[in-house]
Amino acid sequence: MKFSEKDIDSFLKEGAICEKCKGTGNLEITLQCKTCEGLGNLYTCKVCGVRILELRNTEDGICDSCSISKYVYSLDDSCDIKDVEAEKLYHGIVNSKASFGVFVDLNPHIRGLMHSSNVGTLPEMGDPVIVLVKNIKAGGKLDLIPKNFKKYETIEIEKELPLKNSAEIDSSMKGRIIRIEGDVIQVKQTSGPTIFTINDEGGFIQCAAFESAGKRSYPHIDVDMIVSITGEVTLRDEQIQIEVMSMKLLTGKKETVVRERVERVIDEKASPSDIPFLIKSDIMEKLKPRMLLVAKEIKKAIFHSRPIILRHHADADGITSAIAIERAILPLITDIGGTDAEYYFYKRAPSKAPFYELADVIRDISFALEDSSRHGQKLPLVILVDNGSTEEDVPSMRQAGVYNIDMLVIDHHHPDEIVDQYLIGHVNPAHVGGDFGVTSGMLCTEIARMINPKVSDTIKHLPAVSAVGDRSEAPEAARYISLVSNHYTLEELKEMALALDYEQFWLKFSSGKGLIDDILDLGDHIIHNKLISLLCEQANIMIQEQLEICLFNVKSHKLANGAIMNVIDVENYAQKFTFPPPGKTSGEVHDILVKKNPDKATVTIGYGPDFAVIRSKGVLMNIPRIVRELREEMKGAGVSGGGHLVVGSIKFVEGMRAEVLSKLAEKIASTKVEY
Ligand code: MN
Repeated sequence: MKFSEKDIDSFLKEGAICEKCKGTGNLEITLQCKTCEGLGNLYTCKVCGVRILELRNTEDGICDSCSISKYVYSLDDSCDIKDVEAEKLYHGIVNSKASFGVFVDLNPHIRGLMHSSNVGTLPEMGDPVIVLVKNIKAGGKLDLIPKNFKKYETIEIEKELPLKNSAEIDSSMKGRIIRIEGDVIQVKQTSGPTIFTINDEGGFIQCAAFESAGKRSYPHIDVDMIVSITGEVTLRDEQIQIEVMSMKLLTGKKETVVRERVERVIDEKASPSDIPFLIKSDIMEKLKPRMLLVAKEIKKAIFHSRPIILRHHADADGITSAIAIERAILPLITDIGGTDAEYYFYKRAPSKAPFYELADVIRDISFALEDSSRHGQKLPLVILVDNGSTEEDVPSMRQAGVYNIDMLVIDHHHPDEIVDQYLIGHVNPAHVGGDFGVTSGMLCTEIARMINPKVSDTIKHLPAVSAVGDRSEAPEAARYISLVSNHYTLEELKEMALALDYEQFWLKFSSGKGLIDDILDLGDHIIHNKLISLLCEQANIMIQEQLEICLFNVKSHKLANGAIMNVIDVENYAQKFTFPPPGKTSGEVHDILVKKNPDKATVTIGYGPDFAVIRSKGVLMNIPRIVRELREEMKGAGVSGGGHLVVGSIKFVEGMRAEVLSKLAEKIASTKVEY
């Protein structure tokens, strides 16, 4: 309609053809290829099969995502959702199936969904898979896409947490995830989680690991191993507890480093208090280095959560010795192991004989082995007080030695050198020229103060009780007695000692926990008074009855050396199986006869069918040596025994009694007397 003149001219000359379509009626439109973007090349990724537009690297032929993430991460149990990054590859395990796909665990706390629309064939339960985290949705939901690689490198991811020690962890850190390293000192299986007690340079901390109710977690990890634990700080019964997310056994160099660190700190913490003794004593000053060593060994055992078995002679000296140590260590044991720790980590038991009998050691070992397998406890430290220093202890020590059970001795019985090879510490006044006058009760009270000086006031009267119990005439005895004279008269101290002997006789093999504390005035003072007066009344009546019978039957002779020898057949002329037993009966008889002739050297022998108990005063005897000589000189008499130099006991075979006793009298008659 808008033909120009020129158009008309052309139309007339050449005819009518559309310039745009050249008369074809088709118009060609060119667009860039969507697949190759106009490059004209098509590649697929050798790994995942997606198309690649451009080869960055001709040898590779790998798509962007595959070439970037050829590292596949393996998340440690310590990792949580914050450690997961989108667009990265992870190892996982198919945990459960749903209609729309499968759930894959990247570790026990991180789970994601692999939707069916992203997968050709769904993997099976339990299959290990490699997944790409496509994105992380709100609330930590993960979208996973399965990937398949011929070549990849796995990187282990552990939460990078600063190492804490248990002393730095407090209730304000509740909910925080932390890492600790230390020594496993106890493993306890509860009906719920498994509780691992870990000792590090800060102290102790309980770590709870849960797999399923009552099932032992980390069964390959046991007592004495060094571990690294990652977990959340929680509070249980107001006590800090770590809820374990991951626990790893440390070996080699890492283990050594942690072990040394823990040991160094325990060593420091276990150093005993070098405080002055309650009284002046030259013998104890000389014994001090050994006493400090023993105090340190006991503290070290506590810090290592090593159970302690305290064995003591079942007399007043032995009991006060044990109670002094007990008072010092119990607070430390509960500090470390919790309120019920004293039931797991401590046992006090009396021994009838003044040595560690086989029956006792065998019971101790079998309980220890049972505890070790049932509660995952370490083998104990055995402390022998007021016993343990003679040859007679050796068979027991050797049995304990088979299990590498450490032993300490604090004693004032005349020691035989042979025991020392079985001990890690031995305090005995005889080692520094002292004698039995420095009682075990004195030594143990001072060692208890080195372990825990806070108990000084509570236990300071125990040495005085032990001194009167063992009839010590050493200068130390008088000093300890006067130290507490404001609180207890000499008579009251003697009553406590008598009450202990009397009650322990009926207690037999029991420790008499609580009852013994009341006798020693460590509990209610009114109960103490009532108990002491009753026990002493009963004991004295029985002693009186026994003496009336015995004294009538004592035969006294004058020996060649001028000493008086009193002999009493306690088997036939004393009441049996009741208080006082033969040893004490002989002692009481001796005391009375000494009072009758105070200026005469006196020996009293109470004998039964196969034993003799010896008490002496003013005679320079060496009973352990006499025993040794009798054993050598009298074949077939089966002589054994010992005790202190001047107070002791001898055993022999019944048929040789007459021969042994006459030889014994001969030896005493040729011993020097003091007056
Ligand atoms: Mn004693």
